[in-house]
Amino acid sequence: MINEKRLLDTFLDLVRIDSPSGEEMAMAQEVARRLRQLGFTVELDEVHNVVARLPGQGVPLLLAAHMDTVMPGRGIKPVVREGVVYSDGTTILGADDKAGVAIILEVVQVVMEDRLPHPPLEVVITAQEETGLVGAKHLDKSRLQAKAGISFDAGGAPGTIVVAAPTHDNIAAVVHGKAAHSGTRPEEGINAILVAAHALVDMPLGRIDEETTANIGIIKGGIARNIVPDRVELMGEARSRNPAKLKAQVNKMVEALQMAAQRYGTTVDIEVMRSYGGYSFSEEDAIVRRLMAACRAVGIEPILTPTGGGSDVNIYNASGLQVVNLSTGLRKEHSTEEHVAVADMVACAQIVLQFLRDW
Ligand SMILES: [Zn+2]
Repeated sequence: MINEKRLLDTFLDLVRIDSPSGEEMAMAQEVARRLRQLGFTVELDEVHNVVARLPGQGVPLLLAAHMDTVMPGRGIKPVVREGVVYSDGTTILGADDKAGVAIILEVVQVVMEDRLPHPPLEVVITAQEETGLVGAKHLDKSRLQAKAGISFDAGGAPGTIVVAAPTHDNIAAVVHGKAAHSGTRPEEGINAILVAAHALVDMPLGRIDEETTANIGIIKGGIARNIVPDRVELMGEARSRNPAKLKAQVNKMVEALQMAAQRYGTTVDIEVMRSYGGYSFSEEDAIVRRLMAACRAVGIEPILTPTGGGSDVNIYNASGLQVVNLSTGLRKEHSTEEHVAVADMVACAQIVLQFLRDW
């Protein structure tokens, strides 16, 4: 039986440990300590990913979450009001993704104390997820026995299963201009800010279609009011669950930059880098089918949904695993209004316990 109070206490303990991305040491050690106590063999790698293994019978299964949190996320003081956990309003809560970590710990604890039959379990709690899936990228996936698994890093109603996520490309551009004194010889200069502005106006951005988005999020350039700027840097991204659409969108962004540069007789350096690949599951895939069955067996109607965001799951699936992302019940992540209902975490844990029974 899932122990609601224990699950809540674990969650509250974890959110009180600061773990902004890149500073996960204390959190990694606490998670490792708890897993060792439950009988797992635990390793920490150099970026502080926690990889834990428990022998069992049958087909190995991965249970995954991440331990780092976004800012403002230091000195979090969780507050429980009518069964819902919030921060005190000055920070995020950190349910993203400590709700996932707490759920995994509770499920494993129940498995051990009730001596339930279970498959070989691999628990992976990554570091630096929020800053570009760094931990998952760094993780030695070839050493995982599991070929399938569940990640606990999604929001929404319990039973929400993320079955598709986009491919994500990063774009960095340097627009070159020509410096000149803006008062005495402006005609000799080429204003890189103006070139960039033209490129941006011609560039489709924002919500492109149902499965495609694009953004320029950083622009930097210029050094003085009286100097025609000779350099502007732009940084942005494009995502789509449709690889052909992603390619077309990135091409449009590149073309807009090149056309603007041409128009002003200057040049632009553009770099496009794949951040991660997308994935897509159908209801026929075993991991999805079984997770849906587990939801129904505990009285929850599963909700299959695509997402526009990336997560560690993109990295696991790109390396040949079959991992789906299951909601922990959290809401409004990455904001000071982030919260999670205790009952929703319990429901998620019950789904997983049921899933383990039938896996
Ligand atoms: Zn997360």
